[in-house]
Amino acid sequence: MIFQLIAKVFRVSKALFIKSPATQDVRTHVMHQAERYRGEHRIDYETCIGCDACDKICPTHAITMKHLPFKKQNIVPEVNLSVCIFCGLCEDVCPTKPEKSIILSGGRYDMLSGGWHEDQNQFWVHVDIPQSYIDSRLEEEEAARVKKELAAKKKAAQGEKE
Ligand code: SF4
Ligand code: SF4
Repeated sequence: MIFQLIAKVFRVSKALFIKSPATQDVRTHVMHQAERYRGEHRIDYETCIGCDACDKICPTHAITMKHLPFKKQNIVPEVNLSVCIFCGLCEDVCPTKPEKSIILSGGRYDMLSGGWHEDQNQFWVHVDIPQSYIDSRLEEEEAARVKKELAAKKKAAQGEKE
């Protein structure tokens, strides 16, 4: 009984005289992240094949496909986090291997933003593709087109000779 009383007095004194925050500032303290934590999406535009499976399976229509100027993989997903329910279906269905092109686990999990949420744009996971990547992909596609055209001409010429 006496020990319980002493412990209680100690706890109350500690609470009164030793000031410490009741909560942790998660902006400065890294939170524990479980292995299968579902946080903000990370989208890899380089490995995405634009199959649209993530968009089709999304139960809340949180995914919008952004159009790209390429012939192959001409779309890539972007996610509206304000309607996403973090079910992870988009990650599950993504067919790319060995890495999924859209992942929640292992992605960003600090989705805090300060102030009022007037700017809806901050709830989107946008895919910003550098112009240098776009240029190199377009050059590759053009080179492949020219090569295919030359091969077709060569084949046609051979056919005429025979
Ligand atoms: S986690 Fe679920 S709700 Fe969110 S974008 Fe993916 S499929 Fe849609
Ligand atoms: S499911 Fe994967 S590969 Fe298909 S569009 Fe979505 S992110 Fe790209």
